[in-house]
Amino acid sequence: MNRKIFSEIIVETILSIPFQENGYLVYRVGSQDCLLIDPGFEPEKIIEHIENKELHPIAILVTHGHADHIAGIDAIKAIWKNCKIYIGEEEKDKLIDAKQNLSASFGFAVTVTPADVLLRHGDQLNLAGISIEVRHVPGHSKGHVVYFLPTDSEPILFTGDVIFKQTIGRSDFPDSNPAIQIEAIRSQILSLPDETVIFAGHGLSTTVGAERQTNPYL
Ligand SMILES: [Zn+2]
Repeated sequence: MNRKIFSEIIVETILSIPFQENGYLVYRVGSQDCLLIDPGFEPEKIIEHIENKELHPIAILVTHGHADHIAGIDAIKAIWKNCKIYIGEEEKDKLIDAKQNLSASFGFAVTVTPADVLLRHGDQLNLAGISIEVRHVPGHSKGHVVYFLPTDSEPILFTGDVIFKQTIGRSDFPDSNPAIQIEAIRSQILSLPDETVIFAGHGLSTTVGAERQTNPYL
């Protein structure tokens, strides 16, 4: 578990080993309510951590519906039944379709509970005392969204599989589009302040400024 404390928001990274996928726990300093971003395989690690901290997950924010980003949802919902699932509206079918979420092709079908809330580009959320802007960034997956948190210190961005430190997400899936992906990264991510901290679905965190200067795909 890796922990980063902003002035009022704590972000903890919980690594899921099978696909080296980052699940994130996000909460305000002093608050018991928390948000989960992309709970993947090995949800027991996330659950143990939440219970140790005596936190209460109120929402699961899904960046996109690939199996490694959603596989832990039902284990969370089994304990915290009122925790709501948020996902981009064009991505919702991947929660309930093992072919679309790519798990069928790995030989283990993953399906989870349908979404509670469908998101559109520009939606503004306020959850667990945290303001969140939803941005649609298609290309890796057609309904992929990223979550932007404009905090009092550095802004925070959860990017799923759109952009990683020094690289970008694959764009060779059935609903991928490489040209749209680059355009969407430029317009929706590189337009954010340089100091914005990027927490990606895989690998290390980075910043918008660092990727603007050094990412070879941009
Ligand atoms: Zn993905």
